[in-house]
Amino acid sequence: MAVTRTFSIIKPDATRRNLTGAVTKMLEDAGLRVVASKRIQMTKEQAEGFYAVHKERPFFGELVDFMISGPVVLQVLEGEDAVKRNRDVMGATNPADADEGTIRKSYAESIEANSVHGSDSDENAKTEIEFFFAEDEIVG
Ligand code: ADP
Ligand code: MG
Repeated sequence: MAVTRTFSIIKPDATRRNLTGAVTKMLEDAGLRVVASKRIQMTKEQAEGFYAVHKERPFFGELVDFMISGPVVLQVLEGEDAVKRNRDVMGATNPADADEGTIRKSYAESIEANSVHGSDSDENAKTEIEFFFAEDEIVG
């Protein structure tokens, strides 16, 4: 298996509860390495652009409002099969459906305030990383 990269966001519900370290530890324990990280306050424009794929979904407006409701921590994660490895440790979108030992089972508040974002394909990972990071901000 190849070493690849994925994009992660520690969402406002998690930063609000001071869970940046706890979430990052679960990512690291799952075999992922943080090769870039920054804490930002997303703008409405950034949140709308990042989630543009969801703009027809009924929860789009609320999702954007949630993502700008507090700081987020953006990360590039590297590891063997990073996209799948990250999705596995994140758990299901709805914490009620997430497996024991996953980040969302442990920490998510709701289907919306579910603590983490993770890319769902290598192609989307590349697009999402480039949306927020310059190449010289990533140090593997
Ligand atoms: P995932 O984050 O697991 O890839 P999606 O890409 O389907 O899930 O959705 C993006 C984000 O939109 C979710 O992480 C969650 O914050 C929010 N979301 C998804 N489904 C709902 C819903 N039914 N109601 C409210 N928010 C939702
Ligand atoms: Mg998704």
